[in-house]
Amino acid sequence: MSHTARDLLDSLGAIWSPDLDAYAAGRIDASQIRCVLCQHAPCDCPPFGSPEYMALIDKRHHRR
Ligand SMILES: [Zn+2]
Repeated sequence: MSHTARDLLDSLGAIWSPDLDAYAAGRIDASQIRCVLCQHAPCDCPPFGSPEYMALIDKRHHRR
């Protein structure tokens, strides 16, 4: 029994936007989905790859 796919889904679910369900159901527009990193809609993240951006990712992955 492989855990890989399940683990991948779990890790995605952990950082997935809570607005995705609403989008999938057609209740909100794509532009209204809050970013999983900065929690803003539209996204207000620092430039990709910048130290600020990496810090955001780090924060989201190591949430306590
Ligand atoms: Zn963002």
